[in-house]
Amino acid sequence: MSITENIEKIANTLPAQVCLIAVSKTKPIEDIEEAYRWGQRAFGENKVQELIRKQEVLPEDIEWHLIGHLQTNKVKEVVPVVTLIHAVDSLKLLSVINREAHKIGRVVDCLLQLHIAEESTKFGLSEAETVELLESEAYREMQNIRVIGVMGMATHTEEEGQVRNEFRRLREIYEKLKRTYFPTEISFREISMGMSGDYLIAVEEGSTMVRIGSSIFGERDYNKPEETNNQKK
Ligand SMILES: *Cc1c(COP(=O)(O)O)cnc(C)c1O
Repeated sequence: MSITENIEKIANTLPAQVCLIAVSKTKPIEDIEEAYRWGQRAFGENKVQELIRKQEVLPEDIEWHLIGHLQTNKVKEVVPVVTLIHAVDSLKLLSVINREAHKIGRVVDCLLQLHIAEESTKFGLSEAETVELLESEAYREMQNIRVIGVMGMATHTEEEGQVRNEFRRLREIYEKLKRTYFPTEISFREISMGMSGDYLIAVEEGSTMVRIGSSIFGERDYNKPEETNNQKK
């Protein structure tokens, strides 16, 4: 199936209020262009350099989502072009984003990444750390970031029940944070959860943003440089 067919099929399974982020990491420009021609506007990348390189040559009305772990030394480059940073996992990172956004007069939307999976390798804050962050003086003084929700990744497992429980837990944490820290802010409304293998479960559990890569663009081949993929076509 083509990228166009894949994306159309996935889009048709999503409720209208769920935003589809097409995860184009490692994929060539022409693949993004095909999705763009179909009408897709939100794309996700997990590396700052790659996001910037693509952003420079692709249409300006694309929304670029940084979905992967962000290092503080890369913040400065990405802040001018990013629509939403999905994986903020420390007060330190948030304060660097705030500082760089202030320098260019922007307010940058961010999601707090929570650690919901069993695997210890995945990044993210615990619920307690999230509360600590939101209650800190430093956070409350930040004028150039806006926290608009949470993000999480479920355990990579065939056990649907476990995946569902993890997504449900993220939703519950989101609801609690909303009640306690954002009761009147309508902008705090995003739950970024669900990837190719588990997005249908995530949507059932209240996801507002799904990040889908391989089901749209095909499997990623990390051994091949992107240029080689390009020429193959
Ligand atoms: C790569 C990636 C995705 C997309 O994964 P697929 O399984 O290809 O859909 C989603 N979220 C994050 C954070 C990723 O790094």
